[in-house]
Amino acid sequence: MKKDQFCLPDGVIYLDGNSLGPMPKTVSNRVQKTLTDEWGQLLISAWNKAGWFHQPERLGDRLAPVIGAPRGTVVLGDTLSIKVYQALAASLAMRPERSVILSDSGNFPTDLYMAEGLIKTIDRQLQLKVVSPEQVADHLDDTVAVMMLTQVDYRTGRLHDMASLTEKAHRAGVVAMWDLAHSAGALPIDLEGCNAEFAVGCTYKYLNAGPGSPAFIYTRADLAIEAEPALSGWMGHAAPFAFDPAYSPALSIQRMRVGTPPVLQMAALDAALDVWDDVSIHDIRKKSIELCELFIAEVEKQCPQLKLISPRDSAKRGSHVSFAFEHGYAAIQALIADGVVGDFRAPDVMRFGFTPLYIDHNDVIAAVEILENIMTNELWNNDKFKHQAAVT
Ligand SMILES: *Cc1c(COP(=O)(O)O)cnc(C)c1O
Repeated sequence: MKKDQFCLPDGVIYLDGNSLGPMPKTVSNRVQKTLTDEWGQLLISAWNKAGWFHQPERLGDRLAPVIGAPRGTVVLGDTLSIKVYQALAASLAMRPERSVILSDSGNFPTDLYMAEGLIKTIDRQLQLKVVSPEQVADHLDDTVAVMMLTQVDYRTGRLHDMASLTEKAHRAGVVAMWDLAHSAGALPIDLEGCNAEFAVGCTYKYLNAGPGSPAFIYTRADLAIEAEPALSGWMGHAAPFAFDPAYSPALSIQRMRVGTPPVLQMAALDAALDVWDDVSIHDIRKKSIELCELFIAEVEKQCPQLKLISPRDSAKRGSHVSFAFEHGYAAIQALIADGVVGDFRAPDVMRFGFTPLYIDHNDVIAAVEILENIMTNELWNNDKFKHQAAVT
């Protein structure tokens, strides 16, 4: 438990760290230092003197152990949507004779949108094929160039077996690309062991680096100097400051960089990663399963109105739990008004994330007690809880 290391308002039980992690207390000092001592005093020399230029690779090496990746295979920058595009484009370039991008209907919409957009820019017959999560393995054949999946379903929490699907993909000659948005910082991942070619993810969910923090991209070690960067920006050039008019990618993971990195957000991420120096992701997973099991058992006992839509088997579930309820949006608003923060995903999903860094057994019991009161007394049935805001 590291609860005292996070900024959490009094009286709030925060079950939404799967969407936006809370702020680690060290972040504001660290960002302030970057502003005052680095930008403020060193001005442009901070790119060298404060190490800004190599931050994206340095933080990649810091993050690597949390996602089971070796040094030199991870780099930070841009947003996850952009990193999806890059990894997908690099995957397609590896299979020029194949025409299908295979994904599943549980994928996060932006991943599918980026695939659709990418297809339009490539002068080649390509098709995005979206099947149900259970059917992915059956569709791995020699027409498929790349299997693009998100390991943990953002809605239901269903967990794909990364090792087994990657192996099946490879047997069919398919490139494997994983989105780890709801996995990184939530459960152990063995990227190196599963042998996937590419992985991407964000750092503002379970990694607590704040809104707009940089995304990460992983390239298997043997591809780090081979993968074709689709977004060929100058920061990925072999020698950015040679200002060569012709593009030539760096002979390292640096080739997956695009433009100038968001230095302040990188500083926030650097501070947020301190948490992982003395925390084992295996312990986090074990405790997260205990919290999820407790929550499911208590909700099913006390709130018969809600229907579990997450897998019941903890081995097949990520670190959040979802229940369907017709008036889910209003119920979540009522919960938030009572200090329990979860979120809503259309059409009827109430979603709760369990992050043992700052959520414990007592929080779960207290949250269910509040939920039970709202359900039993239909406190959600109030106009003030029914107005849908821009972000749900
Ligand atoms: C959260 C999430 C995103 C968000 O992408 P951004 O570019 O950071 O807005 C994308 N894909 C998945 C699977 C996600 O869970």
